[in-house]
Amino acid sequence: MKSIPDHLQQLQGKSVDQIETPALVIDLDAMDRNVQRMAEFARKHRVRWRPHAKLHKSADIAHLLEQAGACGHCVQKLSEAEALAVLGVNNLFISNEIIAPTKLRRVAQLGAMLDARGGRLALAVDSEIGIELLALAVLEMSSGPLIDVFVEVDVGQGRCGVPPGEAALELARLITGHPQLRFAGLHAYHGSAQHLRGVGERHQAIARVIEEVRRTCDLITAAGIPVPLVTGSGTGTLIHEAASGVYGELQAGSFLFMDADYARNEREPAQPAFEHALFVKAQVISSSGRHAVCDAGHKSHAIESGLPAVHGQGDATRLRFANGGDEHGILHPDNADGRLPALGSTVWLIPGHCDPTVNLHDYLIGVRGGLDGGLVESIIRVDARGALR
Ligand code: PLP
Ligand code: MN
Repeated sequence: MKSIPDHLQQLQGKSVDQIETPALVIDLDAMDRNVQRMAEFARKHRVRWRPHAKLHKSADIAHLLEQAGACGHCVQKLSEAEALAVLGVNNLFISNEIIAPTKLRRVAQLGAMLDARGGRLALAVDSEIGIELLALAVLEMSSGPLIDVFVEVDVGQGRCGVPPGEAALELARLITGHPQLRFAGLHAYHGSAQHLRGVGERHQAIARVIEEVRRTCDLITAAGIPVPLVTGSGTGTLIHEAASGVYGELQAGSFLFMDADYARNEREPAQPAFEHALFVKAQVISSSGRHAVCDAGHKSHAIESGLPAVHGQGDATRLRFANGGDEHGILHPDNADGRLPALGSTVWLIPGHCDPTVNLHDYLIGVRGGLDGGLVESIIRVDARGALR
């Protein structure tokens, strides 16, 4: 395992001013508040939370979330699961079907490793062949582990999953025919509802989802197969799934850091007040008098969901970030007096999309006491950075 480089180790205990730019910084106080808000929300609604680790990709953060009450972690890819498992993360749900036999062999091995530690591996499926190949891979191991299998239902995104209803029942039936697999329930996540801007639109979209999921659960149960759990939901819609009486587990991930795209959603009063905790620290390296240029471009932050917002500017000094390429950001005054930040000054950016931004960095720098005057408390490795397979 790679150790943290000396120059970063030595930052611990130092002032925020000492962090060289561009760097991905976590406001640990804000992150902790988000964790507490989520824990309290889940407690109030009596649902489990299994935050999606594709956001932070870090074993340290996974452990912190468990201490706050998370029941485990979702990951998108097998290699993400492996990267976290070797660092002691024991309960992992790969929220996708896996088809390649070589990967399924690794799934079985990972399942056995987690089993031996008292943990559990779960996997989503959405095809008969996916179930058969998985069952075969587990059987091939001399003492195959028990794997939790969720049937993925497409509840509106048009991505993975079988349609609600009969097709899900057929897969559930198939799973129960394999003693090495345990039918764990339904995985039903509506990704494209998360960023519907209006409160009403999101409510309507998830009301339809809940109806379809309830109908599917009833159908499976009526066929004599208990549905132990429905898992799904993201930061944008979690208040609806949590109150549904149908979903028993929330997968939201972005609540931990938040981003500029989520900030564009209209907020509903019942939603916990998650705050921005992830920032790119950048420095002004050039100023023409008409605009300033900072040293963070799209190699520092993802831009497919929009450009970063500039954080912490009072009204009089508001700045607009324009794309300056992979290593530069162009800062325009968005105010009447055209004031620009001075050469050498710090600019804090709120990334447009938190998940792919984290994946651009090897380390997150955890700051305590605020971005203005705080101290570096921890260096957090992005353990599953680049884990695509
Ligand atoms: N579950 C699944 C399957 C996802 O793909 C995602 C994100 O894309 C999430 C949960 C978490 O959503 P969010 O990060 O918006 O809270
Ligand atoms: Mn995302």
